[in-house]
Amino acid sequence: MSNPSLLILPGDGIGPEVMTQVKRIIDWYGEKRDLAFDVSEDLVGGAAYDKHGVPLSDETMAKAQEVDAVLLGAVGGPAYDNLDFSVKPERGLLRLRKEMDLFANLRPAQCFDALADFSSLKKELVAGLDIMIVRELTSGIYFGEPRGIHIEDNMRVGVNTQRYTEAEIERGARAAFELAMKRDKKLCSMEKANVMESGILWRDVVTEVHADYPEVELSHMYADNGAMQLVRAPKQFDVIYTDNLFGDILSDCAAMLTGSLGMLPSASLGLPMANGRPKAMYEPVHGSAPDITGQGKANPIACILSFAMALRYSFDQGEEAGRLEAAIEKVLADGARTGDLMGPEGGTPLSTIEMGDVILAA
Ligand code: ATP
Ligand code: MG
Repeated sequence: MSNPSLLILPGDGIGPEVMTQVKRIIDWYGEKRDLAFDVSEDLVGGAAYDKHGVPLSDETMAKAQEVDAVLLGAVGGPAYDNLDFSVKPERGLLRLRKEMDLFANLRPAQCFDALADFSSLKKELVAGLDIMIVRELTSGIYFGEPRGIHIEDNMRVGVNTQRYTEAEIERGARAAFELAMKRDKKLCSMEKANVMESGILWRDVVTEVHADYPEVELSHMYADNGAMQLVRAPKQFDVIYTDNLFGDILSDCAAMLTGSLGMLPSASLGLPMANGRPKAMYEPVHGSAPDITGQGKANPIACILSFAMALRYSFDQGEEAGRLEAAIEKVLADGARTGDLMGPEGGTPLSTIEMGDVILAA
């Protein structure tokens, strides 16, 4: 059997810095765990623009379609701010998501015990928190037609359309139920069925899909109440399934429950390929962080946790993913902190490489 394949796209800014630490861990798996990957590396974002004049070349796109998983660092930076919209670094990322048809965006919000004090909420609310938001990523109000700004009765009117087909709701719901089966078997679906037609359909379709997952406890919540509950008592949730717009907002809200952007991984999954693995791209939630680029300060944990998600969701290595997460938990408990994780009490932060060192050692 050939090794699973991984395409690494470090991108811009701190992307390459944090990815270097992930590559050390990938090498470690090959040497110490007999878990070798066929790794290839390519350019995306501003780095691709500098070389090819486009933020993602056709060759790289084709490669991304073939591999078992893509691991991406970050794209963008001030050097590219004035580029034409069609070649902006972010367009490289959007092209990957669109052409790979990555419809389920998984955003875990997990609070490591050692960082519970650091969260924006009270410690008892977030200690042990481990929830997963599944956001529908390819449809909804960001894409629906008609859209635009036009004149009506001598006044400008801005229009967006929330539109969901049952197929779109269903495929995301299946991804969410599958996840719930692997976790605590609890799924909360969030929409606004009280005021939106798409919300009524959303609730119906999710309820229908539930028939195939009777072991999962399903609940429905209006998204505004969901936002309140996320901040009031986040530990009541396991998996949350919601649409593109609500998911955008709710996942950022959930993210801040846990502390720093430097800690947050994500996965975007599509349909299964011929080998049964889903099309998949993994990336940290944070961006290219131009303010700290090149200073060795970036926290590599979000990117490393993204690789842990790849182990779990693309490579069926849930146990290894758990060990990697446990190593991170341990170094944090031992007091290892990059600058973004330091409170006002201060201390000497670890560099990106030093954080990689202690995680590897653990
Ligand atoms: P983009 O437009 O690429 O999303 P941004 O500036 O909006 O960039 P980030 O790049 O995520 O957002 O940075 C937001 C803030 O968080 C910055 O101050 C950055 O230094 C900090 N930050 C982001 N990621 C990390 C990390 N991995 N380690 C330490 N600090 C980080
Ligand atoms: Mg940003």
